[in-house]
Amino acid sequence: MNSAKDDVTTGRCMCGDVRYEFRGPPLETGHCHCESCRRHTSSSFVTYIVVDRTSFRYTSGKPVIYVSSPGVERGHCGRCGAPISYENKSELAVYACTLDDPNEVAPTMHVRADEQLPWIEIADHLPRYEFGKRDTPVRVGPRLEVK
Ligand SMILES: [Zn+2]
Ligand SMILES: [Zn+2]
Repeated sequence: MNSAKDDVTTGRCMCGDVRYEFRGPPLETGHCHCESCRRHTSSSFVTYIVVDRTSFRYTSGKPVIYVSSPGVERGHCGRCGAPISYENKSELAVYACTLDDPNEVAPTMHVRADEQLPWIEIADHLPRYEFGKRDTPVRVGPRLEVK
């Protein structure tokens, strides 16, 4: 994982029309189970990274913005349709699998665990939060004992 303050991390959509970069390590890396993230990506959950907005910039193209709720803008590529970003007034996140190398990051938590679908289970031992990391975890590890 990048750790130096000035290390540049890059990412892109599936077709490459939209490309971005930011500096330094992600501020937060996690899995989100909220319905809104699921709807935006048509997936059972998403893995996101919160980035330093002051160093983040698009180096090619720009995502098409969809306002998914008041104050929340979600971006996707207008050509290939790949979901890319989540932005509200306090943070900017990109989906981890838009990174050129998703191996560079490691999720540390699950958020919105209360909205997790009953038929998806992830056998890591990370904390699960009902909302976000400022709460007390509702659970650490999967719902079921995984052997
Ligand atoms: Zn694209
Ligand atoms: Zn979410």
